[in-house]
Amino acid sequence: MQNIRRKAGSFIFALLLISLFVWLISSATTALLVFSGGLLLYLANHIFWLNQLQTWFKKPDLKTIPDGYGLWEGLFNLLLRYERTNKYNQTQLNASLERFNLATSAMPDGLVILGSSNEIEWCTANAEQQLGLDLKTDKNLPVVNLIRDSGFIAYLYNEKYDEPFKLKSWRNPELVLDIQLIAMANNQKLLISRDMTQLEKVDVMRRDFIANVSHELRTPLTVVGGFLETLGDMEGAVPPSLQGYFAMMEEQTVRMRRIIEDLLTLSTIESNTGSPDNSEIDMASLLKSVQNDAIGLSQGLNKSSHRILLEADATLNLKGSMDELRSVFSNLVSNAIRYTPVDPAKGHGDITITWQMRNKQPVFAVRDTGIGIESQHIERLTERFYRVDKSRSRETGGTGLGLSIVKHILIRHQAKLDISSEFGVGSTFSVIFPKSRGVQKT
Ligand code: ADP
Repeated sequence: MQNIRRKAGSFIFALLLISLFVWLISSATTALLVFSGGLLLYLANHIFWLNQLQTWFKKPDLKTIPDGYGLWEGLFNLLLRYERTNKYNQTQLNASLERFNLATSAMPDGLVILGSSNEIEWCTANAEQQLGLDLKTDKNLPVVNLIRDSGFIAYLYNEKYDEPFKLKSWRNPELVLDIQLIAMANNQKLLISRDMTQLEKVDVMRRDFIANVSHELRTPLTVVGGFLETLGDMEGAVPPSLQGYFAMMEEQTVRMRRIIEDLLTLSTIESNTGSPDNSEIDMASLLKSVQNDAIGLSQGLNKSSHRILLEADATLNLKGSMDELRSVFSNLVSNAIRYTPVDPAKGHGDITITWQMRNKQPVFAVRDTGIGIESQHIERLTERFYRVDKSRSRETGGTGLGLSIVKHILIRHQAKLDISSEFGVGSTFSVIFPKSRGVQKT
């Protein structure tokens, strides 16, 4: 800019000097004529290059940028440099876009970008195929108009995207998709759809296999158990030298039956994809009966039994499946008893069951003063057959499946299991139910 100003200034200054010289050697009129003629020429020159610039702008091309002259030369050089950088950036951008398109189309997952009103902004070919979309016609349409599954709509609006949502395709019942939403900047969302059909099939096969094996084993085990019982009742049927072995056979048969029952329960819960019963449960009587069962279990396991305390909000009820939730509460309480040694001298042996509203959510908790759990085990406790101490679990009649059953029932009730524990001091297992499952009695 300064260059242009300087160049224009020098030209006018030179023209003024020439005109002054002409005035001196000729007349003022001639000098004025020379000055105006010079200015006219100057203007014509600028109009010419302006016209060149306009013509170039109509069809901009690096090769045809005019060379320019004088003041315009610098300007056209700047334009050339700008165009070159622009072209380079554009090539880079196109290459990145190409790479991005190649990567997204090579991905087995489908990607959809949703705008702030959950309208479809963009999607990949895989997403079109998995979700039955067509970007050409569906662009800017609300996604809920196109994926009309009520569970998906609730997942979208709840805005809790920690876990993916399993979508059974309404167009193709064979197709099972995992839908994961990720919140992005500007209220946009990224929807990732993953085809889980094969994995789901394998999972169904696994569940069926376990259910069938457990079923097939149940009958012969009942027969063996029955014979052992009959033999045990028959006087003199078991020689004294074999009685130790005989007791072990009876004990192991009972254990196997318990494992099979738990496996069957687990596969029934897992394959039950429908919503659980939603009737109101009278928590006061349910918790009382859980407490009584616990007292019975404790007396059976120990000569001196535990102190089982119940602190329940009598005005709070729960909506859900009574049978399933009873199993959850009983499992947690029976674990607390089994993993809490009774030692009145040390104050060990207290089990406290609580039922109350916490942060506006109904919470059932069992606190024990037992052996506690080291932190590295806590994450894995709900895995099938995961036990911190196998022999202790066996001794107390455990199958290693209790917390797996608890986890699956809680998933069905949209509830969360929270475990806090201090090794050697005790543990607290809390079940946090969604607000909507609590019923405040009037
Ligand atoms: P199990 O039949 O072995 O008790 P669970 O699935 O109920 O199986 O529990 C898994 C493991 O979690 C148990 O083997 C035990 O190591 C640990 N556990 C569960 N509850 C408690 C508790 N209250 N205190 C200490 N450890 C526990």
